[in-house]
Amino acid sequence: MAMSDMRPPIESGCPDGFQYMHPVMRKNFGQWKYHDDPRPGVLRHVAHSGDVVWTVKVGTQRILDIFTLRTLCDIGDKYADGYIRFTLRSNLEYTVADEAKVEPLIKAVEDAGFVVGGTKNSVTSLSHTQGWLHCDIPGTDASGVVKSMMDELIDDFKSWNMPNRVHITTSCCQINCGGQGDIAINVQHTKPPKINHDLVSNVCERPSVVARCPVAAIRPALVDGKPSLEVDEKKCICCGACFPPCPPMQINDAEHTKLAIWVGGNHSNARGKPTFQKLVASGIPNNPPRWPEATAIVKRILKVYKEDAKDWERINDWVERIGWPRFFEKTGLPFTKYHVDNWVGARANLNASTHIRF
Ligand code: SF4
Ligand code: SF4
Repeated sequence: MAMSDMRPPIESGCPDGFQYMHPVMRKNFGQWKYHDDPRPGVLRHVAHSGDVVWTVKVGTQRILDIFTLRTLCDIGDKYADGYIRFTLRSNLEYTVADEAKVEPLIKAVEDAGFVVGGTKNSVTSLSHTQGWLHCDIPGTDASGVVKSMMDELIDDFKSWNMPNRVHITTSCCQINCGGQGDIAINVQHTKPPKINHDLVSNVCERPSVVARCPVAAIRPALVDGKPSLEVDEKKCICCGACFPPCPPMQINDAEHTKLAIWVGGNHSNARGKPTFQKLVASGIPNNPPRWPEATAIVKRILKVYKEDAKDWERINDWVERIGWPRFFEKTGLPFTKYHVDNWVGARANLNASTHIRF
């Protein structure tokens, strides 16, 4: 085929963000002198050129219906300079180049029922995954539970009353786009998948399902004369990785799909290395739409962190200083056998010698 006959590629990636950026931000890109925090929910960036922009951060429920989105955009047109952006944590940011616009903008946002906050040492919105609305494998919802959990943490969103910023994440399955955060609430399956053998041969590509299992617990099998799969339940770690490529290996379960809370994860920051989160509570009821049991544990951890950590300690820094035994003591969370990593591959992630520490 001649090159001229070839269909050009369809560019469907992210559009160039610069076209949507506030002109003052675009003009001073990479040329900022400093930024500070005039009040909770507001950032002020000062450029070397002398230009200043104010950013007002607003919490949203992330999955926005078109009417809510229009309301927020209308506020941006009327009270800000017509530019908005969403952050990773589903907060919306308005940018203005005139300080006189900040207070009327905040009033308009609050009058419309939204909250301003989420900056500096506050609890910002939970980052979350797709939940029942978008994904095909979730064991729980995401947006709805984030909204209901943030309803309980609204004062901590609106004010600077934490020792440092707190990032909370959720994840609605155990394996994919889920969270690593100061506090992470992740789905935890507690039993192996249940196989519908009538469907496997029509729906699943068996070799890829077998290859997908991290502990080699799945084998091809003939069941009632039909090609199917079987699971060695002694090996299965109930991760759920086989369910996405093979929906007949159902693992979500109203009773046995639980939640687990992990603490102390930090991708990285300017002062220390990235840290892995550790399991602190497991087997928590997966109880949408409001997750009262998980919310109560998160609030308990935040209360102790607020009272006990030193200024500027993130949760992982605080736990590192006091030690995990004290963490369990102070929060009153029970330390159980489930907190001990006895998986056969765990040798690689434990401190297994006196010489190598990681
Ligand atoms: S965390 Fe899992 S279930 Fe949730 S959206 Fe991501 S892939 Fe889907
Ligand atoms: S749940 Fe995970 S460990 Fe168990 S069979 Fe499926 S992929 Fe393997």
